[in-house]
Amino acid sequence: MFPPGITCEIGSFLGTPLSVQLIHMNPFERYVQLCGEIGHYTECITGANLVDAYTGPDKFSPEGQKRDCDAPTLLHEIGILHDRISAEVDDELRQQYLLGELDSFWTTVRWLSGEPMLYSDIVEGMFNIPMRGFHEREITHLLEDLEDKLQSYPGEDLFERVHLFTQQGKVLGEELKTMIEIDLQQKSKNVGELFKERIFTLMGREVTDNGVEYRCVSDKPWSGYNWYQRGFKSLNEFNVDRSFNKDTLASVIYHEYEHHVSNLWRERLYHDTGNIELSIVPMHTGRCVISEGTADTARDFLGIAEGDERTQIVNTLSVLRRMTSINAAIMLNAENKTREDAISYMIERGLRDADSAKGSIAFIQPFQSDERPNFYAPYVFTYFFGRTDFVLPTFQKAKQEDQLPEFYRTIYLNPYTGSSLTWGQAFEWL
Ligand SMILES: [Zn+2]
Repeated sequence: MFPPGITCEIGSFLGTPLSVQLIHMNPFERYVQLCGEIGHYTECITGANLVDAYTGPDKFSPEGQKRDCDAPTLLHEIGILHDRISAEVDDELRQQYLLGELDSFWTTVRWLSGEPMLYSDIVEGMFNIPMRGFHEREITHLLEDLEDKLQSYPGEDLFERVHLFTQQGKVLGEELKTMIEIDLQQKSKNVGELFKERIFTLMGREVTDNGVEYRCVSDKPWSGYNWYQRGFKSLNEFNVDRSFNKDTLASVIYHEYEHHVSNLWRERLYHDTGNIELSIVPMHTGRCVISEGTADTARDFLGIAEGDERTQIVNTLSVLRRMTSINAAIMLNAENKTREDAISYMIERGLRDADSAKGSIAFIQPFQSDERPNFYAPYVFTYFFGRTDFVLPTFQKAKQEDQLPEFYRTIYLNPYTGSSLTWGQAFEWL
């Protein structure tokens, strides 16, 4: 932490004017600083910081960057850095990756400055993927699939069967707390071992892994979050205001552990190469599409079989919920439908109970209950499309062609491949 007052004068406290210092600063250092400045801006407007993790030197820590930049200043600085990176960075993938990140920041700042923007332009500008919903036919198809799978389960109709099925595995309160802090903590160690045995050995490389600590929190818009911490470790927080399903929790572990693993490699590469931009992990960019995509494909990476009947039902339900959440997000943000409309939709078509539908709305609604913009409103697209349009097809092709070692080396040993903007180019060899 910096004492208040110092942060606003960071450019001049050495007695050199800000503009001169910025010129001497290399573009990568300036990128890290700018992430911190934008992070303060997003936190001021929404309560959520753009910076997800930082493992770099204290000198450039996001915490210590200027706090009072307004949107026009930030947009101007993004433009200047964009020009510098275009002119000064030779490595093509590194350059494209960083320019893509800056383009996403540009969209984020414009959106939060209150500039009128279409939701579809926000999603596309941030993530470099189109805002795409699902036809009701596709949802019906999944519902029919569930109907088949749940035929022999108790209940009058599909809604009741799903409700009873979900109730069976429901945990909350003290039981949930114990489950997270003891059972999941143990399970995550096992998942860590699986990554070593099944992926790192294929890559022929090892990475320090100080593990993931599981902790319970409340009053958050998300249900779980992986906080990567300097020193090859993570903190996984679970929002225990929500009830969880035992079966779902088991699959969340793979997702969250993959985030941890990809950050381990990123931190290691930052130390090996000294590329300082790898020490910072900003949100709402093309990186998130691949990051959520690899996390949602972790079970496939680890060769975790389809599982028993129960697990298969849970997996189909989770696809249904990812798809209906996307449709509900479009209703709320692009079609001016009400919160009640979206909740009813998630209940009817996503087969959620009322509490679960209301909980999920917090993540996708345009505004929070205190009327500040909801920072996460555009984010819901990253999971589904990251997996189905990017990571899964590439993984399957690599597997077919016996190229898995190179696939893993590409994603984990070259973080510049991990963006929706550079993915195609990074896998041209496949
Ligand atoms: Zn995730």
